[in-house]
Amino acid sequence: MFLDDDIAYLKGVGPSKAKVLAAELGIHTAGDLLEYFPFRHIDRSVVSTVATLTEDNNYVVLRGTVSNMQTVSIGPHRERLTVDFTDSTGSLQLVWFQGTKWVRNKLKPDVTYLIMGHPTRYNMQWQMTHPELEADTAADSSRQLYLPVYNTTEKMKQHGLGTRALARLTETLCGCIAGIDETLPNELLQRYHLLGRREALIAMHCPESMQQLDAARARLKFEELFFLQLDYQYAHSERQQHSAGRVFGTVGDLFNRFYNRLPFPLTGAQKRVVREIREDLRSGRQMNRLLQGDVGSGKTLVALLCMLLALDNGSQACLMAPTEILATQHYNTFLRMLDGLGIQVELLIGSVKSADKKRIKQRIADGTTQIVVGTHALIEDDVCFRDLGLAVIDEQHRFGVEQRARLWRKATPPPHVLVMTATPIPRTLAMTVYGDLDCSVIDELPPGRHPVRTYHRTEPRRPLVFNFLKQQIDAGRQVYFVYPLIHESEKLDLKDLEDGLEMVQNYFPRPQYQTSMVHGQLTAEEKAYEMQRFKEGRTHIMVATTVIEVGVDVPNATVMVIENAERFGLAQLHQLRGRVGRGGEQSYCILMTKDKLSSTERERIGTLVSTTDGFLIAEADLRLRGPGDMQGLQQSGALDLKLASIVDDEPLVAATRNDVRDLLAADPTLSRYPLLQQHLQQSKNKMLWGKIS
Ligand code: ADP
Ligand code: MG
Repeated sequence: MFLDDDIAYLKGVGPSKAKVLAAELGIHTAGDLLEYFPFRHIDRSVVSTVATLTEDNNYVVLRGTVSNMQTVSIGPHRERLTVDFTDSTGSLQLVWFQGTKWVRNKLKPDVTYLIMGHPTRYNMQWQMTHPELEADTAADSSRQLYLPVYNTTEKMKQHGLGTRALARLTETLCGCIAGIDETLPNELLQRYHLLGRREALIAMHCPESMQQLDAARARLKFEELFFLQLDYQYAHSERQQHSAGRVFGTVGDLFNRFYNRLPFPLTGAQKRVVREIREDLRSGRQMNRLLQGDVGSGKTLVALLCMLLALDNGSQACLMAPTEILATQHYNTFLRMLDGLGIQVELLIGSVKSADKKRIKQRIADGTTQIVVGTHALIEDDVCFRDLGLAVIDEQHRFGVEQRARLWRKATPPPHVLVMTATPIPRTLAMTVYGDLDCSVIDELPPGRHPVRTYHRTEPRRPLVFNFLKQQIDAGRQVYFVYPLIHESEKLDLKDLEDGLEMVQNYFPRPQYQTSMVHGQLTAEEKAYEMQRFKEGRTHIMVATTVIEVGVDVPNATVMVIENAERFGLAQLHQLRGRVGRGGEQSYCILMTKDKLSSTERERIGTLVSTTDGFLIAEADLRLRGPGDMQGLQQSGALDLKLASIVDDEPLVAATRNDVRDLLAADPTLSRYPLLQQHLQQSKNKMLWGKIS
């Protein structure tokens, strides 16, 4: 049988079971089944005895005979079947609640059985509920010593495709499968002492020893990570070689005038990153760079400097933000910072009146506009640049690869792209996930910032918290209250928020204290109006949902109260906290939670209280939630891995990354590696490839 053969033709499958396999597990071919790996194996090489069972025996195999079958009715159409099982050292009771009729018919008193399962002690008597069971005949030489255990679904079980049945199928398959080709070059197999692909795939199901199973897993993990790296790094190096980028060689008047009048020196990290970007911009290749840095680390300023470089070299630049609030804020910041330099800046967002939009688009097209700030509106088809040289994307995780690609198409050669994110991703992970981007990190805050002090409080201390807020407000500061989105329905969320508003206004009565409220159901204008009032200090308190999560900048706000903080993820809490501590004053973050926290909730809150280092927080987040929930990871292939984990197998991730890098450095077209070329050809057809490059 060959890998591409229809699974229906495997002995024991047939058309109806094949249908179930396809529907439930997406298994269509022999190869699909071969790559449906068991999640563990039962070691049948060791047969235990009843006398030596202990409380912590997880899963055991026993050999013996059955007697004394008894059925007790336990309700309408339900019965309990008990059977005594005896080996040379003692006896144990087997119990069934389901399938009792079948078991009763199957069990014979004169047969020796192997039973497998989890023994429990009940009233001094050992029991095993729903054991796996099979006749132990000497003739059965094909018996798998290490029995694979597969995930199955209810529907599969109904169609005779439980884990035991699957084990029989994979055993048959392993005996007849042909045409499994090696995919890794010999030199890697040798260097890492890896099993061949055929041996590894078969050993995953029918290992001859636990060592062989480990070796099989190691081989297949290596393969997965190696090819993940190869896909990314090859795409990256292809682009480096082939995608010409415009050359911004000049540091001109605009850059210099702006730079020289900055009221503060750049931090060391900012200088380093600007240098890295300048190298890219004059290299003749298109830049695709990720700029990571905590909130407030000065990314926007770096981006602006780079945009001025583009302008100095006769190109236009744009900045794309995920929300209208943010775009508007960036726009205002730019207007302020660029004042007097004679630069044409425009704002293009969905809520701009259509007559104005038309005018703005016209000015973008004829090149009058030099810098455009906007939202998704920027990538609409009818937005044409005269000559877009640099596109900056703020808050990467809200934009998909596809949207990035639409920006690239706005100019030929494509514009340089700088992606900024304040969501730190652990360094090692970033290199995998953003394998197609170069990374720069601003790992230093501007001087004179006081780290935000973070406290955890519960309901009984709310009055004290409110007293503290009163002191802060009376001293001229401002305060945020943030509520999580909890409900499926926006109406209910809004209700929470309005209840919160009422509580706040009870403590802080008008007219002495003024309160703003912002949430997702307001129009952009309403939001902007409320934000503006808060920004100008006309309101003291901002009650909001997480719409204020990213980028909102009110330096005079010194306290952030996060309600139901246990409901937020770590990354999000960190983002929210970044809204305070932006001015010269000491700032505070108060995490209000319910009284009793689960252990992960406690760890999350504890992490946030104990550190402000975004990378440490990202690592804790990864540990607590696994990679599946990490922002930014969803679009990467890193989550499609079957065996390897980019978190737990980090050493292997690093090794394969280096191997691929070395291979590509020595042989950029992989001319000596036909197997790898073949792989790339296949994944080119499959992957986001076309979109990436
Ligand atoms: P980010 O975009 O990383 O959140 P911003 O660029 O918005 O950070 O900078 C946050 C604040 O810090 C802004 O008010 C900015 O003017 C200021 N800032 C940026 N760089 C410096 C620096 N080197 N020294 C002092 N202040 C800085
Ligand atoms: Mg920012």
